[in-house]
Formats: sequence, C-alpha cells, structure tokens
Amino acid sequence: MPDVLLHSCCAPCSIMPIRLLRKNKREVSVFYYNPNIQPEAEYQRRRAVAQDYFAQIGVSLVDVGLAYNSEKWQTQVGCFGGPYPLIESASDYRQNHRQRMKRCEACYHLRLYELARVAAERGFSTITSTLLVSPYQFNGRIQEVLCQSAQAYGVQAYPKDWREHYQAATQTAREMSMYRQNYCGCAYSREEADMERAARKEQRHNVRRSYLSIDNTSALLAAHKESKILKEEPTTTVAPKASAIPRGRALVKEKHRLGKDLTC
Ligand code: SF4
Repeated sequence: MPDVLLHSCCAPCSIMPIRLLRKNKREVSVFYYNPNIQPEAEYQRRRAVAQDYFAQIGVSLVDVGLAYNSEKWQTQVGCFGGPYPLIESASDYRQNHRQRMKRCEACYHLRLYELARVAAERGFSTITSTLLVSPYQFNGRIQEVLCQSAQAYGVQAYPKDWREHYQAATQTAREMSMYRQNYCGCAYSREEADMERAARKEQRHNVRRSYLSIDNTSALLAAHKESKILKEEPTTTVAPKASAIPRGRALVKEKHRLGKDLTC
C-alpha cells in the first residue's frame, strides 16, 4: 500500500526529507505541483532537475497529468500582491511581513490541498512537504495548512519541521552541482529577493565606506602627530611605520577615543 506522498517544491529541498523518511523506514513517493513558479522556463528547469534527482535515487514521481497553470495561481494567490519592498521603519516591516504571509499562506493552501486530494485518490496514508525544510518559509503556517488539508481529505499529515537540515541540504546540493534557485518561485518573490540582495549590497558598501573614512582619519591623525612632533623634536623623530597605524577594531576604538570633531 502507498505510504507517504511528499510534496516537492524543488530538488535541493527534497534531499533531506527523502533521506530522513527513508531512514525511518517510510516508503516515499513524490508529487511535484508548483504553479507558483514564474516564468514557465524556470518552472520547467526546476521540474527537470527534480525529475532527474528522483530517478537517480529511485523515488517514484506521481504524475496526475497536471499542466503548468500559472493563471490559477495568479487568480487564487497573486491577488494578495507584492512585491513588498524593504523597509524604512519597523511598521513597514510588520506590514510587509503580514501581507507577504497572507500571499504565501494562500500559495501553501493551493499546493497542499492538491497534494491531499491526490494522496486520497491514490490511496496514500500520509502527506508532507519539502516546504518544511526552508528557513525562508512560514513554517508554522505550512504545518497548519498541511494538517487542515489532510483532515479535509481523510489522510494523515506529517508536519515535521526540517529546518535544522537546511544547511546539510544546501551543502549536498552544492556538492552534487545541483541547480539551486535564488528566489522562492513567484514573480513577486523574485523582485523581493532582488531588492533584499541590493539592500545587503548597499549595507556592505556602507560598512566599507565607513572603514575607509576611519582609515583616512587615522592617516590624517598620524600625519598631524608626526608634523607636531617634527616641530617639537626635529632631529629625533622618524615617520611612523605603516604597521603602527591601527586597523580593524583598533581603528574603531581610536575613532571613538578621538571624538567626532576629528572625523573626516
Ligand atoms: S513567495 Fe513563495 S510561497 Fe510565497 S507566494 Fe511566492 S512562491 Fe508562493
């Protein structure tokens, strides 16, 4: 009798759930249903990578002939909108987060109810999802929707939080040179991921700029000190060695010690 039907969002996130379920002597089949992925070329790419991986490790893929249907996703989920940009204030953050959560919850609903329907139709006893691996998803919401959908179709849910295995999954996928996408799936999530990356880059630049400005301060101070000493003791003073100019944390400390008025 068929045992566990695992909803797979992508190959990398499927690695650890399949290993762990098999380790627990569960018989796993996989259901790939992700009309959230845009554009279609990206959907086809992720699906092909997943299919290859399942064939490689001998897991059967349950195919019920569902074609890619992003219109359905757009109608049922896309209406919650996005992208939700970053973030000028804490209230922006909370508002964005709430809106994004509503959209993602509808997305889980669409995919996991289909999973439960197919599981019941094909005689599987239990359902679960690889979405529960990702630390970027709303894990609690996935667990709730999984349990509700299982109840609606009279199957068992296995709402296991697998997030602690995310790093191992990423590492394994990297070692296998498996394609790893850099956004969740929908067009909104792609824009959100782009914005988040741009914000992180900007933050890194700001940190670098502030270090550079500290460097300038130190160099000027060293020069200032040197010229003062030269005036006072012209015959005994030599220019400070480069190694004597503080760097890293020492620079930050020095900046604090010297006070704002000396900052470039
Ligand atoms: S971010 Fe991911 S889970 Fe959320 S709506 Fe988009 S595709 Fe679905």
